[in-house]
Amino acid sequence: MQELIRRLLADLGEDPTREGLLDTPKRVEKAYKFLTSGYDADIDQVLNNALFTVDYSEMVIVKDIDFYSLCEHHLLPFFGKCHVAYIPTDKVIGLSKIPRIVDVFARRLQVQERLTNQIANTIRDKIAPVGVAVVMEATHLCMSMRGVEKQNSFAVTSAMAGAFRDNARTRMEFLELIKLGHASPVIGDGTATGMACIGED
Ligand SMILES: [Zn+2]
Repeated sequence: MQELIRRLLADLGEDPTREGLLDTPKRVEKAYKFLTSGYDADIDQVLNNALFTVDYSEMVIVKDIDFYSLCEHHLLPFFGKCHVAYIPTDKVIGLSKIPRIVDVFARRLQVQERLTNQIANTIRDKIAPVGVAVVMEATHLCMSMRGVEKQNSFAVTSAMAGAFRDNARTRMEFLELIKLGHASPVIGDGTATGMACIGED
């Protein structure tokens, strides 16, 4: 990867041998390996010993989870807040593991819609809850830095399943609790209300 980065620097018109850039290929490789470390993560290992059988059937919410991901169309960051809720059937996930699940999928090349769905699907698959909801709000640097659709570089996506999809009151309770500062997301699987990067150019 370091040789590729040296070539990239040269193609950009830079001198890869000047002092400030000498260690850049090494740093970039290290950074990209960390930012895409989700590919190597094993979700079962992440959740190891953190699924508990409980007698609890109220909504569990973890909100304002910071996340950072890379847009697969431009390899530029998109980042923001993730809100997760579920209603357990008989199992819950240790609360600290929810942000870990978000990281596993965020640390890959992504589109926001797929990222949202993957988090919701993982929770659904692991604990078969009565319902699960994930809302993600993010700023896309590939839009805002390039001045493309500047006012629309902010996107909200949601994935709702089970009770959150079928029961408007449950859904509203969740949306009220996360106090979304913007228009309520369209209810659907990974539907975007804003304009996430769609890789047009
Ligand atoms: Zn992009």
